[in-house]
Amino acid sequence: MADKGKIGNVDLTAVIDMVPPARTPSAMFPDVADSAWESYKDTLEDGQLQLYYGVIVLQMDGATILVDTGMGPGPHPDRGNLTGNLYELVSDVLAPPDNTTNTNVSPSDQVNFVIHTHLHADHVGWNLRYAGGMPAPNFRRARYIISKADYDYYTEETMLEQSPHVQRQVIPLRRLRLQEIVEGEHEVTDGISVVPAPGHTPGHQVVLINSGGQKGMVAGDLLHNIAQVSEPTWCAGVDWDKTQSANSREKLLDLAEKENWTVAAGHFPPGQQIGKVIRDGNKRIWAPL
Ligand SMILES: [Zn+2]
Repeated sequence: MADKGKIGNVDLTAVIDMVPPARTPSAMFPDVADSAWESYKDTLEDGQLQLYYGVIVLQMDGATILVDTGMGPGPHPDRGNLTGNLYELVSDVLAPPDNTTNTNVSPSDQVNFVIHTHLHADHVGWNLRYAGGMPAPNFRRARYIISKADYDYYTEETMLEQSPHVQRQVIPLRRLRLQEIVEGEHEVTDGISVVPAPGHTPGHQVVLINSGGQKGMVAGDLLHNIAQVSEPTWCAGVDWDKTQSANSREKLLDLAEKENWTVAAGHFPPGQQIGKVIRDGNKRIWAPL
């Protein structure tokens, strides 16, 4: 399953690593009354809130970028023992039509950058593979871009103890000399920048794309559910600072609407992960491409 879009010379493809077990809307959004979901029934599946663990692939002349790396191969005991599929799916997207017979080169070698919107478990899972206890990168030619605020927050001693995914999928990147810690607004490569959008986590960042006169964004966890496009104050229970989360969402959705951005949201359902933020009366709504 793939969603596709184009921003100037940048091709976007959304691939879904894993579909975790569904939850009730109130489990995911504890501050939103059940009755408030009446207007957004279409965004639920059988009344349940279904997240998707989507990863966005950006392809342009001279660079291939993965935005986040999903939940990882698993099986994941805290997610119904499900397993992730990202590596295979990304390889399909990246494989050239007439694949070479050189077995030393894998499609994943084409990835130049992995940009992490933030350091939650469902966003870093395919960074590294382990053989005999030793980590090796799944994307060995890539620089892994991580925000300083998230790195500092999650590698502080107490937090690190509670975050095995950071221990396994983030910490070794440093010794492998694959990580790049960035602060504030930062240009990753021509036309691709990360911009702080804090709230979900301290260092949550979105990816802005500016190519051929068109603009867009990979939203990360600025958006968990389509209803948030219309209700930017709705915050996921796991948001670190809900005021900042709502402010970041309002600000970026406003720009997306006014400047006609193409937006990718990895947690949205397949077929709806890439779209535009358009106005319908006094509300913004999501219009999948
Ligand atoms: Zn997430």
